[in-house]
Amino acid sequence: MERLQKVIAHAGIASRRKAEELILQGKVTVNGEVVKELGVKVGPKDIVEVNGIKIEREEPVYFLFYKPRQVVTTVNDDKNRKTVMDYFPHVPERIYPVGRLDYDTSGLLIMTNDGEFANILTHPKYKIDKTYIAKVKGIPKREQLKQLEKGVHLEDGVTAPAKVKLLSADRRKNTAIIELTIHEGRNRQVRRMFEKIGHPVMKLKRERLAFLDLTGLNAGESRPLTPHEVKQLI
Ligand code: URA
Repeated sequence: MERLQKVIAHAGIASRRKAEELILQGKVTVNGEVVKELGVKVGPKDIVEVNGIKIEREEPVYFLFYKPRQVVTTVNDDKNRKTVMDYFPHVPERIYPVGRLDYDTSGLLIMTNDGEFANILTHPKYKIDKTYIAKVKGIPKREQLKQLEKGVHLEDGVTAPAKVKLLSADRRKNTAIIELTIHEGRNRQVRRMFEKIGHPVMKLKRERLAFLDLTGLNAGESRPLTPHEVKQLI
């Protein structure tokens, strides 16, 4: 048995607090009856509806996936490109990606059917560190890297402080490998940050998310998160 607000939050419709509001507003029914008190528990067979729409309930599942390049982070692609879903043909639960990696970005992506978990992980308030390894054109100067660290002006605002490490520089090829850790997750943020300092990204990989990394996985492979890892993340 689970609390009603938890079941609603898991479905990804609302946060737990918002789910409580929906219950108090009389918008939630269990087996056709309006439930207006908090604290009611429901079993797996009970039918829960919010605003007349039935909630599909599944056991929550969580995967850590090493997304290859040239794969879209969506459930469907209207251009018929390969999607992250193509790597989970045997998972019966309706999983989806948490956050997004660009078509040409590889690396760590979490897949789940737990909407509440996905909302928490992507909400800026929780400031979860994401570490990227970027190969960039040219060799940035120390001041430019400092700029990335402090924050750069992008069209959607200044970026939050970041951690930056120059891992290597190839003077012959005029490229550098840089590790960048940010906790924001704006659209194409890392690429735009490097563009802003005049060193466009040639290759990008997400290496870590919080304490998770890609150890033991090749591109295209995944593994379930352990219950302990799930608990630690949220
Ligand atoms: N930042 C980017 O620019 N691209 C990604 O895929 C992820 C973060």
